[in-house]
Amino acid sequence: MQVKINPVKSMIKGKRICIVDDSIVRGTTIRTRVKKLRELGAAEVHFRVSCPPIKHPCFYGIDFSSKGELIAANHSIAEIERFIGLDSLHYLSIDGLLRSVSHPEKYCLACFNGDYPIPCVGDGCSRACLEVSD
Ligand code: SF4
Repeated sequence: MQVKINPVKSMIKGKRICIVDDSIVRGTTIRTRVKKLRELGAAEVHFRVSCPPIKHPCFYGIDFSSKGELIAANHSIAEIERFIGLDSLHYLSIDGLLRSVSHPEKYCLACFNGDYPIPCVGDGCSRACLEVSD
């Protein structure tokens, strides 16, 4: 945040801030950013996430491989709100996501619903997702 985003105190102090981002994976980056906004005097900080909660690992190449890393896999919305320090948190629903695209049947939703379009390879797979199933 210090390098990429330079918050201007006069624009933040006393204001009700709404952050929009594409996802929450671990929640640690946004927690730091919200803390900074509070230090600069934000009256309220809300967060809207343009994807559903990420609850399952991706083993197709995205860099979150175990449930232990995923804040939404292990915590309720209220718990995530408290951890990040938000006044409110809302995610896009899976239905809402699918309504926003054409050919929704063609999309992988595995990290949201655990329904992997290509099955895990079983015994030969060393991915952590196999070790932390529900
Ligand atoms: S939608 Fe599928 S491919 Fe994309 S990050 Fe989630 S599990 Fe991985």
